[in-house]
Amino acid sequence: MNMINTNLPTAELQKLDAAHHFHPFTDNSALGKKGARVMVRGEGVWLTDSEGHRILDAMAGLWCVNIGYGRKELAQVAARQMEELPYYNTFFQTTHVPAIALAAKLAELAPGDLNHVFFAASGSEANDTNIRLVRRYWQAKGKPWRRTILARWNGYHGSTLGGGSLGGMKGIHAHGGKIDGIEHIEQPDWWSEGGDMSPEEFGLARARQLEEKILEVGPDNVAAFIGEAVQGAGGVIIPPSTYWPEIQRICQKYGVLLILDEVITGFGRTGNWFAAQTFNIKPDIITIAKGLSSGYQPIGGSILSDEVAAVVGGDEFNHGYTYSGHPVAAAVALENLRIMQDEGIVEHVRDVANPYLAKRWAELADHPLVGEAKLVGLMGSIALTPNKATRAAFTSETGTVGFRCRERCFANDLIMRHVGDRMIISPPLCITPAEIDVLIERARKSLDECYAGLQ
Ligand code: PLP
Repeated sequence: MNMINTNLPTAELQKLDAAHHFHPFTDNSALGKKGARVMVRGEGVWLTDSEGHRILDAMAGLWCVNIGYGRKELAQVAARQMEELPYYNTFFQTTHVPAIALAAKLAELAPGDLNHVFFAASGSEANDTNIRLVRRYWQAKGKPWRRTILARWNGYHGSTLGGGSLGGMKGIHAHGGKIDGIEHIEQPDWWSEGGDMSPEEFGLARARQLEEKILEVGPDNVAAFIGEAVQGAGGVIIPPSTYWPEIQRICQKYGVLLILDEVITGFGRTGNWFAAQTFNIKPDIITIAKGLSSGYQPIGGSILSDEVAAVVGGDEFNHGYTYSGHPVAAAVALENLRIMQDEGIVEHVRDVANPYLAKRWAELADHPLVGEAKLVGLMGSIALTPNKATRAAFTSETGTVGFRCRERCFANDLIMRHVGDRMIISPPLCITPAEIDVLIERARKSLDECYAGLQ
């Protein structure tokens, strides 16, 4: 029998929610005044809320529902796996078929010699694993002092204490502090911080901060550098073309391990299976989650190079989670990858992103509020500005214009997210040209309404 009465009116559900459900990244005290929107169903790129509104989800949930909502095959696989073997662990020399098959599949899909998968239940857990992995790597190599990890301000790597410390979100550090041995450099955000430099000059300058930081900390103290190929939660910051080659060169020069956080960019988002391929990066470790199961089950992990796996695997690795390689999550992820391959979803991203979405997205740059409109694959952002020529930011008296715009989108049944005054999208990868038209039409209407409200 159903434990909750799903036929309760929306206001009743919202009241219960505000009373008992403590939400992540939410002002919980405000929920009593304005209840949370209650989602009840999903199909493709569409969500339906408890009031019957059909909402275009241009964020794929939290950047994760890559194959779209409502795929029954995944539900069927989950049910079958639950009946057969709902749980077993992968500790102490045991394993099971879903974990074996998924690890082998990931080794096949991941570029280069990234052939070994350590499973977690989320991206945050996987990045916590990475902290231990890279420190253990240098211990095993006889250099336990090599333990500092370098990362970027405004990067996001999760919200556990480890993931939040790797991330460069000051608001997260402010809630509970951060762990030691992690240092940050500036981000490659040309629009906001590039000044008079060209994007290419700025990309090089920001990458060279990594070298400066390595020299400041001492090359023999640095274990690894971690970065998202494209910063997601930071506002879909697509780095200038000069950035990643220079980061790669510096990591190689000082023997610093490179961890590429592909929690958002993995599994087709940028038009390849991994952004490492899109940006020609050769990481030692890749972090994965989200699109791995299209969000249908909580699963993440770290894919290690042959060398990292050989060094860390030379002895017992004292680390693991009850749900590392959970059989139901692994079986669902495997089915998700099968569908992606059989239906050519990564190829679809390339077809639909360029030129169709790229062209329609670029059109938004003619709106009076929009400075730049940028896109890679199916993730994009627009920067809102009061002055396109100077790339100025709105002053605080105007409030966060991005928030106002996001509220207009929500009212117009379009989910876009705002990061400061950037509006971002990351729709399900199955989105069609006709749905892209709806997305652009609703985004423009919301921008118009937001603009009118500022006059
Ligand atoms: N890394 C990146 C790049 C992310 O965007 C996220 C989540 O948004 C995480 C890590 C954390 O993943 P999770 O929320 O599954 O812990």
